[in-house]
Amino acid sequence: MPVSTRVDGVVAVITLARPPVNSMDVGMRRDLLAAVQQVLSDPAIHAAVITGGSRAFCAGADIDEFQTGHGLDEPLLSTVLACIEAGGKPFVAAVEGVCLGAGLEIALACHYRLVAERAIFGFPEVKLGLLPGAGTQRLPRAIGVEAALKLILSGQPISAVQAQQQGLVRLAHEGDLLTQAQALAQDAVIKRHCPRVRDLVAALPEGGDKETFFAAQLAALRGTLPAPRLCIEAVRAAVELPFDDGVERELQLFKTLLASPESQGLRHAFFGERAAAKLAGVPANTPVRAVNRVAVLGAGTMGAGIAMCCADAGLPVTLLDLNADSLERALAGIRANYALSVKKGKLTASQLDARMASIQTTTSYADIAQVDLVIEAVFEDMGVKEKVFCILDDILKSGAILASNTSTLDLNRIAAFTRRPQDVVGLHFFSPANVMRLLEVVRGAHTAPEVLATVMAFAKRIRKVGVVAGVCDGFIGNRMLEEYLRQAYLLLEMGATPSQVDRALQAYGMAMGPFAVIDLAGGDIAHAIRARRAIEQPDRPYSKFPDRLYELGRYGQKTGAGFYRYEAGQRGALPAPEVDAMVVAYSQAIGVERRAITDEEIVLRCVLALTNEGAKIVEEGIASRASDVDVVYVHGYGFPAHRGGPMCYADQLGLPQVLAKMAEFRAGYMGQFWEPAPLLQRLAAQGQRLTGP
Ligand code: NAD
Repeated sequence: MPVSTRVDGVVAVITLARPPVNSMDVGMRRDLLAAVQQVLSDPAIHAAVITGGSRAFCAGADIDEFQTGHGLDEPLLSTVLACIEAGGKPFVAAVEGVCLGAGLEIALACHYRLVAERAIFGFPEVKLGLLPGAGTQRLPRAIGVEAALKLILSGQPISAVQAQQQGLVRLAHEGDLLTQAQALAQDAVIKRHCPRVRDLVAALPEGGDKETFFAAQLAALRGTLPAPRLCIEAVRAAVELPFDDGVERELQLFKTLLASPESQGLRHAFFGERAAAKLAGVPANTPVRAVNRVAVLGAGTMGAGIAMCCADAGLPVTLLDLNADSLERALAGIRANYALSVKKGKLTASQLDARMASIQTTTSYADIAQVDLVIEAVFEDMGVKEKVFCILDDILKSGAILASNTSTLDLNRIAAFTRRPQDVVGLHFFSPANVMRLLEVVRGAHTAPEVLATVMAFAKRIRKVGVVAGVCDGFIGNRMLEEYLRQAYLLLEMGATPSQVDRALQAYGMAMGPFAVIDLAGGDIAHAIRARRAIEQPDRPYSKFPDRLYELGRYGQKTGAGFYRYEAGQRGALPAPEVDAMVVAYSQAIGVERRAITDEEIVLRCVLALTNEGAKIVEEGIASRASDVDVVYVHGYGFPAHRGGPMCYADQLGLPQVLAKMAEFRAGYMGQFWEPAPLLQRLAAQGQRLTGP
């Protein structure tokens, strides 16, 4: 039973028990309502304590229900809460652990909140594009409008001590919380005191004027997502409307957000992250090898970042490079990076020392013979990889995992350099490795399930989102990126300018536009990839326009000029009218009549190019599911989470509409790139979606 009741004297103790974190679904709402009604109807019961487990009082609504459409099935949580408040018998919330979302809503409806010091409180709903569905009317009445908005808009939890300072809860003394809560309930019975949050006034900051206050709150919002705006509107209702009318308004606003594409996108991204951890052929009970010591090979850009990821997670790591200067440079870079965090107040000086102490360096392979996991990040050259993997095979203890960070080389060939291909796996980090959350885990033909399970657990430990990809050139993310860039370049030939393309995609929500990304990553690197493709795929040409910039030595930020201009030592992209002029001249030179291109067309061409390649990747089994593709894009390529990802976006547009657009593009300039993936056609014909029902 998710809710159980026992009666102790005149006090009922209602315990929420739905593992692992008491998330509130319709069954639990029903049971809690029945328990509350029992308390109210039994004359022998004078008061009640509601409690959860030591880990969680209640971590929030069961958001699976919002996907299945049962989130608003009766009884609504607001009905349960109204019942708690209405009966005239005191209810005490005894909170030991996590108290978020629905949990905090229950606590706010109780007449008293007695909490342990390690409890945390918050409303994370805004992160899923929602508002607290039964909390925006009580919280401002409990702690004031300004503090309430801060909690609701940030989505971040606060500690029990902070919650007590705000007047939200009362901290219990050391000792048994439940006993103290029962005593408090009995005392309330004697004093006949049942203070209700709903009877308080939602106070504005002293001397504050309502219109000015809310206008300032709205003006301070960044971005255009609807949830923060509607959160403010709901809290405003707490100031302006009687309580019950406010609850009604809150429900309407909640329903609006629930149906919004932005919330659907955010929830898709959330569930996608969870689904990515489930691997075909790797059941949840697959044994995991211990990873207590890691070695990183190659102290370059990636190696240094990967070593930091390990140090940040408290894992001892040995950084190996044949070049002692590289090691020194890497250590200095790592220290400078941590020092910046200390300066920003994100790290303490002693944490810096601890992290530096957990990173050893060496030029000798003998020093890494006993590690559990090696992550190779040496030069991207098959000959070098061969040398390294042969040595690793000779020296590493049996059972060690051999991972390669290669971006483009065939992992199966790398595995074949060893006598233990089952222990070889790809761990494709993204730059900067200590910052980017995505980790593509590349499953070779012989990678053992145990190895995959171990590296997925390792990914979690270093706070990465692991997504498994099969072996192919570019894996999931970079293979799709090529089609995206191909369209971005073609748009220049057709009539757009680099800044127009970047602006349109940024307005769509991308963290950066494609041309700013190329300037950051290096036009020389992008050129090398295109040159390789020209040999491998002569029938799939790229625009030759970016080659002109390359020939002028405009490699991007590193040379001070690329698609944009850069001041020395600054990263901000400045306009480069000379590039716009070159673009126009180039169209003329290749005989293309330039036309006005809308921002909508820019977004559709670039994003649907991602979708189409993503669908091929799913069909080939390189990705296990469409949501994995979306997770890769949201966490590795700055794709806006509120769009869900390129696959979710296509579903929201509707696959027939997507195919119609592709047909339109196919009939136009350089239309040969718009051969729709068979999976898209099949799903559209069957009335299905890429990302499931
Ligand atoms: P880098 O050139 O910055 O660093 C490579 C380091 O490896 C150098 O310090 C070099 O001294 C060292 N090295 C070379 N041969 C070695 C050997 N035999 N033993 C030990 N050390 C050796 O390169 P990088 O950009 O860090 O890339 C490393 C790997 O990561 C490549 O496989 C690359 O494809 C991959 N990768 C790079 C990026 C990126 O954005 N730079 C992103 C993802 C993956």
